[in-house]
Amino acid sequence: MPLVDRFGRVHTNLRISVTDRCNIRCFYCMPAENVQFMDRGNLLTFEEIERFVRVAVPLGLRKIRLTGGEPLVRRDLHHLVALLAAIPEIDDIGLTTNGLLLADQAQALFDAGLRRVNVSLDALDPVKFQQITRRTGYEQVLAGIREAQRVGFAPVKINAVAIRGITEGELVPFAQLARQTGVEIRFIEFMPLDAEGQWGRDRVLFGKEIIDLLSREVQPLVPVGQQDPHAPATEFEFADGRGRIGIIASVSQPFCGNCDRFRITADGKLRNCLFSHDETDVRAMLRGGAPDQEIAAAIEASIAAKNEGHEINSARFVQPQRPMYSIGG
Ligand code: SAM
Ligand code: SF4
Repeated sequence: MPLVDRFGRVHTNLRISVTDRCNIRCFYCMPAENVQFMDRGNLLTFEEIERFVRVAVPLGLRKIRLTGGEPLVRRDLHHLVALLAAIPEIDDIGLTTNGLLLADQAQALFDAGLRRVNVSLDALDPVKFQQITRRTGYEQVLAGIREAQRVGFAPVKINAVAIRGITEGELVPFAQLARQTGVEIRFIEFMPLDAEGQWGRDRVLFGKEIIDLLSREVQPLVPVGQQDPHAPATEFEFADGRGRIGIIASVSQPFCGNCDRFRITADGKLRNCLFSHDETDVRAMLRGGAPDQEIAAAIEASIAAKNEGHEINSARFVQPQRPMYSIGG
């Protein structure tokens, strides 16, 4: 039985957060200081995550992305990858990471069955990197990207949050990197999911502005044909065929109509949307001896209750209580 919601959207794609801890402090995600992390005992174990996935597979789950917090600070993450890669119906496992620990772990993750990695890097200028992340480590991220390519991850994509007043000067250098290395750069509009209430529409660098600037200053950008309707990024190529750019225009052009995702937080709360205000306590079920049918029914009920869209652009919008690092981006 597929997980179809009231708006006909079929849900096949699960984002699993494995920790809320992180080794940097991006201002659009985490507080600078005094972060209240989840108790370690409240994090789902790898076996609990595997069971949840195995319950969701008969409901149509096919695609998984591991995230956090920073997923690579969760010890032995490759063991979880191996457990999930052993489920035959799961045909796609991806990872979103800040890349700081990737050089050390890339080979083990690849050997465990991971094939797709997105590395988050908002600036190629190390000073900007430090301003955004409030930590050092830029060189380690670049080393992580190189190592991921070396061990055979394909594609390796870079995710860059586009922030007005900070990252305009990064657009052309990123485009040049895409043209030189074949790495796809995806610019993400800054969303209201930060921990310190710093988001404002005036801080969003909009996708259309990015396309216009790059088309003017580098080469005209043309949309790529045959795009995956469920992918959040709209993909473009430079007119000479060298270099690919993705735009994730979550604020200016929401893609909720094609959403196929649901999420589980590191502490085992099922969420049907990044912006949802309701959660289902799956951890309590997993630890309380609930049978598979009860967990499956809870997943179906969560999807059935999903809202049509996120309403960031409406006066009704209320930012969720959990910031991005605690939900799992
Ligand atoms: N730590 C990992 C990383 O940074 O890739 C995984 C978790 S992070 C929350 C997942 C993605 O969400 C990253 O690409 C990050 O840039 C993005 N992100 C975090 N907060 C955001 C926000 N307020 N608006 C848009 N994207 C955001
Ligand atoms: Fe950490 Fe990722 Fe959030 Fe940055 S975006 S603070 S790397 S979890």
